[in-house]
Amino acid sequence: MPEAVLQQAAAEMLDWHGSGMSVMEMSHRGKEFISIYEQAEADLRELLAVPAHFKILFMQGGGLAENAIVPLNLSHGGAMDFVLTGSWSQKSLKEASKYGAARVAASAQSDGFTTLPSPASWHIGADSRYVHICGNETIHGVEFHELPDLKALGCDAPLVVDFSSHVASRSVDWSRVGLAFGGAQKNLGPAGLTLVIVREDLIGHALPHCPSAFDYQLVADNQSMYNTPPTYSIYIAGLVFQWLKKQGGIAAMAQRNIAKAQLLYDFLDSSSLYVNKVAKDCRSRMNVPFFLRDESRNEAFLAGAKARNLLQLKGHKSVGGMRASIYNAMPLEGVQALVAYMREFEKTQA
Ligand SMILES: *Cc1c(COP(=O)(O)O)cnc(C)c1O
Repeated sequence: MPEAVLQQAAAEMLDWHGSGMSVMEMSHRGKEFISIYEQAEADLRELLAVPAHFKILFMQGGGLAENAIVPLNLSHGGAMDFVLTGSWSQKSLKEASKYGAARVAASAQSDGFTTLPSPASWHIGADSRYVHICGNETIHGVEFHELPDLKALGCDAPLVVDFSSHVASRSVDWSRVGLAFGGAQKNLGPAGLTLVIVREDLIGHALPHCPSAFDYQLVADNQSMYNTPPTYSIYIAGLVFQWLKKQGGIAAMAQRNIAKAQLLYDFLDSSSLYVNKVAKDCRSRMNVPFFLRDESRNEAFLAGAKARNLLQLKGHKSVGGMRASIYNAMPLEGVQALVAYMREFEKTQA
C-alpha cells in the first residue's frame, strides 16, 4: 500500500468528508458511498484506458472465485482452452473443469515454468469458448510482456486474463482482451475486492446454476450493487487510483516498475551467489523469485534481511528459495535497499 493512502484513510477513518460517518458505516446506497464508488470507477476507467464497451465490475471472492465465475458466465457449458505457465493458471484449469471441457492449449511445465510457450504453438480448438492466460504468474515470476493476439492466430474466442498480480503496473491492450479479472490485494488495495473488466457482448450468458450474485449481467445491471459490495475496499482502492494518477498514471508506473525490476535482475545476473531461472523475455516485473546457490544459507539470509526491515522475502512453499514482490507501491529505494543488502550478504559468504 502507498503510505500516503494509508495516512489519508487514517485521517478520514472516523469522519469521511464531514459526513459524520466512517466509510464503514455508510449505506452502500447512500449518496456518500455512491459518490465514492462512481469516482473510483471513473478513475480506474481513465487510468487503464478501459473502452466504453467494457463493463467494470467490483465483485468479491478473489481471483480463485473468478476461476469458477468466469466459466459459469462464459463457457456456455462448452470447451475452454488454458495456457499453463505456472501455479495460478494450473489452478484456473482445474476449477474450470467442473463447468465444462477445460483443455490445455500449451504448457511450460516441462521446463519448470521458466518460459512462455509462444502463441503460435498453442492448440486452440475451433469450438473454444475462451482462452485463459495468467498475465503474471505470481509464484513462478513469469509475465506476458505482450498479450497474445488471438485474432492473428485465426482464433475468434475471447482472451481471458488473470491480472491479479500485475493490474495497474502496466497498460493493457484491450483490443486483445475479452475479460480481465484480479483480486485487489496485490496492486490495488486491501483484500476483499475483485475487479472484473469484461466486454459487454460476453455477458448475459451465465449458466442456469450460476449463483445470482456471480452473474455478470446482474452485477452489471445493478452497478455492482446487486448485493452489498466490499465498500471499504472499494474506498481504499479509490484512494489508490487517485494516488496512481498523481504519480503520472499507468505509463509512469510502468516506467518505474521497469527500472525497479531491471535493477534487481541485473544484480541477480551479475552475482555468483544468487540466481533467477526465468527466461529473460518473460521475467516478471512484479514478482522476482531467486535462489541462493548454497541453500543452506537461506535462513541466515532471511534473518539478516529481517534485521534490516526487508520483509516477506521467503519464496512460496511450492518453489522454495526467495521471492521479492515489488508491486506498484514499492518505491525504487526499497529495491535499492534489497540489492545493497544482498550484495553485502554475498561478500560475507566468500
Ligand atoms: C493471488 C492470486 C490469485 C488468488 O487470489 P485470491 O484473492 O486469493 O483468490 C489468483 N491469481 C493470481 C495470479 C494471483 O496472484
